[in-house]
Amino acid sequence: MKEVTVFTVNNNFFQPSSELIASAAIREVQNKKLMKAFKRAQRIPFLRKKIEECKLETFRGIDDLAKLPFTTKKEIVSCFPFGALAVPLSQVVRIHTSSGSTNKPITTFYTRSDLKIWSELMARGLAAIGAEKGDVFQNTTSQGMFTGGLGLIQGAERLGLTVVPLGSAHPEKQIETMKDFGVTIFHAIPSFALRMIEIFESQEGLRSSLRIKRGILGAEPWTKEMRKKIEGALGIEAFNNYGFAEVGGPGVAIECKFKSGLHVWEDHFLAEIVDPKTGEQVEVEEEGELVITPLSREAMPIIRYRTGDITRFLDGDCECGRSHRRVDWIKGRIDDMIKVRGIGIYPSNVERIVASHKECNGNFQIVLTGIDDITVKVEANNGLSNDIEAQKRLQAAIFNEIKEATLLRTNVEIVPQGTIPRAEGKAKRVVDMRGLFS
Ligand code: ZN
Repeated sequence: MKEVTVFTVNNNFFQPSSELIASAAIREVQNKKLMKAFKRAQRIPFLRKKIEECKLETFRGIDDLAKLPFTTKKEIVSCFPFGALAVPLSQVVRIHTSSGSTNKPITTFYTRSDLKIWSELMARGLAAIGAEKGDVFQNTTSQGMFTGGLGLIQGAERLGLTVVPLGSAHPEKQIETMKDFGVTIFHAIPSFALRMIEIFESQEGLRSSLRIKRGILGAEPWTKEMRKKIEGALGIEAFNNYGFAEVGGPGVAIECKFKSGLHVWEDHFLAEIVDPKTGEQVEVEEEGELVITPLSREAMPIIRYRTGDITRFLDGDCECGRSHRRVDWIKGRIDDMIKVRGIGIYPSNVERIVASHKECNGNFQIVLTGIDDITVKVEANNGLSNDIEAQKRLQAAIFNEIKEATLLRTNVEIVPQGTIPRAEGKAKRVVDMRGLFS
């Protein structure tokens, strides 16, 4: 068996026997659970029909995985609200929905066992980033139907942290509460962290009155470059966290203290990366669409769910000793790709560049005004407001870097701090005005 690094701080592992399990043992667990998940999936009418259409003579587990049909977002949305439920409603102890990037939200259901496992995985994730008893945890996101709020709170409680469930509130109120209770770790969407930077910059001494050490961020696309900016400006360590309502919310994958990709909790989720066009599995390190099969879910046991998220498996071992495979940060969603003059560009291409300039505060917006017209509005820090020459240099640099990264020539506008509207929830990075002029 492979030698593993075990930290002296107990809380780095919440369930060491599951987290430090050898790769071969994980495959065995997955295989067993997949057989059960395959049976449970057939309690969902639309999936039963699709599986029947595959005319499988036998199903032998992971080796036959690629023979199973995919589940798509469209299918789940079209059977709103109860069509993907596999157990009687009386066994469901909780219902959540997605934030609804489509017209109807995704409904997701939990039996008591689903809820227990979810809490444990969130506790695992929080332990993996270094949270431990004595930490004071604040949730800054909505605690209603959104899975991220209650999901993180349950995990924090399970780990034994002191929870401050403020939920969505003005950034000023969030910071005041962090100060009042000596919060050391918080959960937020990345654009909230950018708001915190602005507030810290406007109030001298505010940062030093806070005890925050770590942030767990997710539920919105972001990049490693943005992480660097957030960590530098807030003086915290920030960790990426991944999950989605269709398989129960956050707790699918998270970074550990070594920040080298996100460990997928493979004893509960089977991950594949496929070519988005052909649906065939791709090689390790090769980019493709992430496909997830939840292995333990009872209430909503979907199979081979196409996330639409582009990433890749990372090769090699992580220094933490966990053998759960890692995926890279999500590069973008397939549906987020903008096509301009035949060239595809993701908002993350722009974010990376904007975040790497210290003169920018990280806020930007991509505005599409015509078939061939793309404008990137970038907010500069207040320090740049009277320096026209510096603004011109920044504009030219961003133009060149976007061109180099994507081959696209874009209009770049440097705008003053606070000009781009701040969304209540997730940031709106792309404004498509093309339909308005046709
Ligand atoms: Zn690790």
